[in-house]
Amino acid sequence: MRVPHTCEHVWDSFLSPAQETVAILNFQSARETVIEQILHSRFSQPKPETVSLMDSLGRVLAEPVHADRDFPPFSRATRDGYAVRSADLAHVPAQLRLIGQVKAGSAFAGSVGKMECVEIMTGAPLPQGADAVVMVEYTREQKGQREKMIEVQRGVALGENLVGQGSEARQGDLLLPKGKRIGYGEIAMMAAVGKQTVSVCRQPQVAILPTGDEVVELGETPGPYQIRNSNSYSLQAQVASAHAIPVPLGIAPDREDRLHEMIAVGLQSDLLLLSGGVSMGKFDLVEKVLADLGAEIFFDGVAIQPGRPLVFGRAKGTFFFGLPGNPLSTMVTFELFVRPALALLAGESAAPLTFLRARLAKNLQRKAGLTAFLPGVLEGSYHNPVVSPVEWRGSGDLPSLNRANCYLVIPEETAEISAGEWVSVLPR
Ligand code: AMP
Ligand code: MG
Repeated sequence: MRVPHTCEHVWDSFLSPAQETVAILNFQSARETVIEQILHSRFSQPKPETVSLMDSLGRVLAEPVHADRDFPPFSRATRDGYAVRSADLAHVPAQLRLIGQVKAGSAFAGSVGKMECVEIMTGAPLPQGADAVVMVEYTREQKGQREKMIEVQRGVALGENLVGQGSEARQGDLLLPKGKRIGYGEIAMMAAVGKQTVSVCRQPQVAILPTGDEVVELGETPGPYQIRNSNSYSLQAQVASAHAIPVPLGIAPDREDRLHEMIAVGLQSDLLLLSGGVSMGKFDLVEKVLADLGAEIFFDGVAIQPGRPLVFGRAKGTFFFGLPGNPLSTMVTFELFVRPALALLAGESAAPLTFLRARLAKNLQRKAGLTAFLPGVLEGSYHNPVVSPVEWRGSGDLPSLNRANCYLVIPEETAEISAGEWVSVLPR
């Protein structure tokens, strides 16, 4: 029998005073709250440390990078051909006297005079007197004469097929600001200015605390009503992929005293991620224990599916997220909220979250009210990307996630989308 999937229910009758809802925000306001809280609390940047150029990949710059000389350092040919004076080609075809050759890495000793040219290779410096390069494709060598002559069939504009000295950047210009995430482009830029070591921000340590009496560790054989701890591992993977350091803490039972102890340990890291125990069930004790620890809770619900019971707050100076325990909820809320939070905690100046756009493959209907992030398959060609939702049995359906390569985003107020309409997609 197929059972339709259920939403995360709210059991009002189980609410104790400590578990009363603080605030349920919509997706956008929750994201803004996370970003603002972290930005406002960042009175000091993370400490810097020096690493080798290649070890800086994925890290955040703790220092700005400036141009050590002009870029390019000399006016450079961008084509193979002949360095010419553009005015000499006012009338074409024109016959130019070939006076030499220049290749990348050296310079031409003389100067190009009226109706003269120098053979030039891509990457070579422009000889004195010349002001443009004519591509070899528009020329022909004239053989059998005393002097070597080049016939040029097309005129060129001043500066054509050249990049002028300093036109990309001047010596001393800012090339990469502090707070920039280092990807392959930044690696190339730093190599180009000769940086062998880089000052980067220290990586945040992220404590990971799964909760639940039914959750068992991988080495154990689960009893008939127990489940294995997968959230701790997906979270470690997500934290590591965000270039932060995961600190797994072991499983906390649904018992106040033990939770209290383990949360206190987790709050010694730069960020604490809890999984489970944040719904409205009688044994969802995480919020209560956090409140006992003097936590400030900024929200304890977001109008999203999956992931509605998400909690965000700060205790003893450390931010924490109480992530809902269902595996898809844990993973989606990490991508939507924790990843951007970690970017800021790592010293990055932005909290990026990139969506793609694709056409919906088939009509979709649902009850409006929550911004949905449904497991989907994105395929098609680059000019016609198509996304289809995968069948899923709700936020615990880990197999469905592994048939998906993205999350299909449905705006809060939307109940129906027709096939062919453009929708947002969050890559996974
Ligand atoms: P909770 O948020 O504690 O109500 O848990 C929601 C669902 O997620 C329950 O079905 C839990 O068994 C499951 N769950 C909680 N923690 C984990 C975990 N660490 N790994 C996998 N599933 C979990
Ligand atoms: Mg639980």
